[in-house]
Amino acid sequence: MLRTQVAIVGAGPAGLLLGQLLHKEGVDTLLLERRSADYVAARIRAGVLEPGTVDVLERAGVATRLHAEGLTHDGVEIGFRGLRHRVDLKALTGKAVTVYGQTEVTRDLMEARTRSGASSVYEAEDVALHDFAGPTPRITYRHQGEAHEVACDFIAGCDGFHGISRRSVPAAAMSVFERVYPFGWLGLLADVPPPWHELIYANSEHGFALASLRSPTRVRCYIQCSLEDRVEQWSDERFWTEFRRRIGGEISARVPSAPSIEKSIAPLRSFVAEPLRFGRLFLAGDAAHIVPPTGAKGLNLAVSDVFYLYEALRDFYGERSERALDEYSARALRRIWRAERFSWWMTRQLHRFPGDAFDERLQQTELEHLFESHAAQMAMAENYVGLPFEPFRGG
Ligand SMILES: Cc1cc2nc3c(=O)[nH]c(=O)nc-3n(C[C@H](O)[C@H](O)[C@H](O)COP(=O)(O)OP(=O)(O)OC[C@H]3O[C@@H](n4cnc5c(N)ncnc54)[C@H](O)[C@@H]3O)c2cc1C
Repeated sequence: MLRTQVAIVGAGPAGLLLGQLLHKEGVDTLLLERRSADYVAARIRAGVLEPGTVDVLERAGVATRLHAEGLTHDGVEIGFRGLRHRVDLKALTGKAVTVYGQTEVTRDLMEARTRSGASSVYEAEDVALHDFAGPTPRITYRHQGEAHEVACDFIAGCDGFHGISRRSVPAAAMSVFERVYPFGWLGLLADVPPPWHELIYANSEHGFALASLRSPTRVRCYIQCSLEDRVEQWSDERFWTEFRRRIGGEISARVPSAPSIEKSIAPLRSFVAEPLRFGRLFLAGDAAHIVPPTGAKGLNLAVSDVFYLYEALRDFYGERSERALDEYSARALRRIWRAERFSWWMTRQLHRFPGDAFDERLQQTELEHLFESHAAQMAMAENYVGLPFEPFRGG
């Protein structure tokens, strides 16, 4: 039987980052990932990093390219009824966000892991978690047709929403909170210089649209779509026509009709599973929670979970203290729920919901208040740049 100190399930940003932070503390990890390394490296997802996320990536020693290539954004714009209003994040909070694709974060972390010599198994099949209620957890899996077993001190469940870790916990030991939204996001990625400098969130009478970017030569654009829609129904030309109609103003005339290099539909969901600890199994990132992408929080929240878990494991191995491990779940959940609230709020204000005229009036009032009130903009800005990490108070 193989042995490691921390077995990490899932090589998304959460699992890779936890492995890298622990490696720097001399803690041995084994990373088990269901997909191939090429598949993981190519996956297109988030792109807005909070300053707290950048700090953690720096601490992990993987921020050199991020600092060279990441784009600093001091504000975001919100469009409503033909008007655009800029929320000046920098002036309001003293902080900015960094645009740097999740694909790039993943690549930097994968390269660091290769350099570190830490063990990773890609294309691990039938990963199963055992005995995590007691002191000697184990994981079994198959790789290239052979069965393997690994013993460990702890299991970090970083395997995303559809992973095995959360599903390994007895249902009675977990509470689940969920909201499913009645629409999805159709996203298109294209290699073309963005005609906008900052993200533009638009609430139009035809539905939501988001103009964003991944680099000086790559745009990422989204429109609200029906849950029944299929990607094949959306030619690039149809997407751009609808996007122009929704983004409005003078920007619409500059929207390119560039061919897509990726196009996909994602449903929108809010989800939290509590607690995050079950004996020696700890959940982090999308394995424990999902936010709708409107607040740009999914990746950032995975990073703050991982940072708290890293601190707790570092204390365990360095000082033989379990106090931060005992506090991990409550500490992470406080920040998770704040990000859930903000992501729900952004989603609620910026999309077209079916039917209710009363809700529509409230949405209009809320956006007008945001445009006119310094205090409302401050509240939005401090959440958008990310609430501060909570220091561990028990140590
Ligand atoms: C389509 C899409 C678009 C998104 N867009 C945005 C966005 O614009 N902005 C934003 O902020 N967030 C966005 N997100 C959310 C953000 O990408 C996630 O919050 C982030 O990836 C979470 O990282 P993670 O490591 O926790 O989970 P993941 O990135 O999901 O990684 C989990 C890993 O575990 C692996 N795995 C799963 N099951 C198993 C198993 N049984 N055994 C072993 N390995 C397993 C998976 O293959 C995967 O590599 C998006 C998510 C999706 C799905």
